[in-house]
Order: sequence, then structure tokens, then C-alpha cells
Amino acid sequence: RKRVVKISTGSKQFDSILGGGFQSMSISEVYGEFRCGKTQLSHTMSVIAQLPKDMGGAEGKVAYIDTEGTFRPERIAQIAERFGVDPDSAQENIAYARALNSEHQLELLNTLSKEFASGEYRLLIIDSIMNCFRVDYCGRGELADRQQKLNQFLMKLAHMAEEFNVCVLMTNQVQSDPGANALFAGADGRKPVGGHVLAHASTTRVLLRKGRGDERVAKIQDSPGLSTLAVFRNDPDSSFSDCPEREATYIITNGGISD
Ligand code: ATP
Ligand code: MG
Repeated sequence: RKRVVKISTGSKQFDSILGGGFQSMSISEVYGEFRCGKTQLSHTMSVIAQLPKDMGGAEGKVAYIDTEGTFRPERIAQIAERFGVDPDSAQENIAYARALNSEHQLELLNTLSKEFASGEYRLLIIDSIMNCFRVDYCGRGELADRQQKLNQFLMKLAHMAEEFNVCVLMTNQVQSDPGANALFAGADGRKPVGGHVLAHASTTRVLLRKGRGDERVAKIQDSPGLSTLAVFRNDPDSSFSDCPEREATYIITNGGISD
């Protein structure tokens, strides 16, 4: 039987609100405004996933779907140095793909399924999940079509997470106009895009925001899907009472996400 693995964020505080890190066999979502660290977290975890388990890693390879063109190999090298691993091999263990549009983004999952059959992959990053869908289906009348295609993508993603014991981490943007659909708004009114379809697909949702000075804040959100609470209950290694905090601060350094 496959065993759930947890991958560290690079920040002990951030890990603690997650019960140790982001988990395999499920889909996690981090969302928040620009420069809150979604892409930096994606880079950091792409290195940490390769590390030994006692360093918060999963001893696995990484697939990185970039929809915004913000992946930087030189950042991977810098983060690798922080953890004392060879920058070249850290980069080689990341299968990078730039998604050109939403159709291509879906096709990439089929390609990756074949790659994942090797059993070597533990992390799949999508930075960001909605970008191509928002560009390709921008008209009001296209929303239903968009959500149907998005659902298809997410179903495939959930299947892959389970089948290959992979942690799926997707980043997401926030609505520029908080107003409609207040159901998924965080306490401060920021809402992820993607509507119900996306909300139900993510097991764990985390809101990232800017804090004081260089600080950033991560806050666990109640997910309408399988709740984070349920994840804690199903995990013999941690109980929710061990982890009452829902908010953690972190910083972004040359070596990636840190305390
Ligand atoms: P967007 O919504 O625009 O994609 P994001 O949430 O992905 O934003 P990131 O690109 O992850 O944001 O974070 C950008 C922040 O990371 C900036 O504030 C920048 O100062 C910081 N940052 C980037 N590289 C470094 C570094 N080498 N050292 C310290 N901070 C850095
Ligand atoms: Mg980004």
C-alpha cells in the first residue's frame, strides 16, 4: 500500500500549520495577490521534494507546469545551494514544461502520466492553475465551457495524485474584484478564482498575503471539498489538536521560503 509523504515548504512554521508539509495523494492550492511568494514557494518545494525524508523531502523527482513564464533555473540553483545539493542535478530532476494554452495544459498531463509511471516523481507543480483558462475563456458566455474543461483537468490531476503517490501543488490568483461569490472569500475578502469547481478539487487551500516588512503570512482556509481537518484526522502521525494554529509567517530569502 502507498504511504502518504509530506513535503516541507522550507519554513518550519508554515509546515506546522500543514501538519508537517504538503501531502502526496492530494491536491493543495496556495493563492494570494502578486508577490506574496507563490512562485518562490513552487521553486523552493521543487528542490526540497528531492531531499531525503529527514530534511523534509520525498526523495523524488518533480514536474513543473509553468503557465506564466516565471520559472527561473538560476533560482533552483540558489535554493539547491542552501540545502547543500548539486545545482545541476537539482535542475535535472525537475521536468519543466511551459503550458502555452489551456488545451496544451491538459495535454501535458497525458505526457506526464507516462513519465510518472516510472514511480520516481513525488511532486507536481502548476504555477498557476487558472492563467491559461482565464485567457482562453475570457468572455462572459464562455464561463460554463471554461468550468467544464477545468473540471476535466482537475479530475485527471486528482487521479494522477492518487495513482502515482504524488503531491500536487497548484498556485492560484485572486479575484481583482471581490464582490460576487463571497462564499469562498477569506476573512479579508480575498478570493481565489476558479469558482466551485476548483474549490472542491483542492483538499487543502492556503491563503498567502503580505505581512509586516518582509514577512509573509500563510493561512489555512476551510475547504468545501475534503477538509484539511479531515486530512489531520486520517493521518496517524498528527492530530488536529497538535496543530491548532491556522496562521504562520514566513520570509522569502535567496535560499527560498524560510522562517
Ligand atoms: P505573482 O502573483 O505575481 O505571480 P507570486 O505570489 O508568484 O506573485 P513571487 O514571485 O513568488 O510572487 O514572489 C516575489 C517576491 O519574492 C518578491 O517580493 C521578491 O522580493 C521576492 N524574492 C524573489 N527572489 C528573491 C530572492 N532571491 N531573495 C529574496 N527575495 C526574493
Ligand atoms: Mg508567480
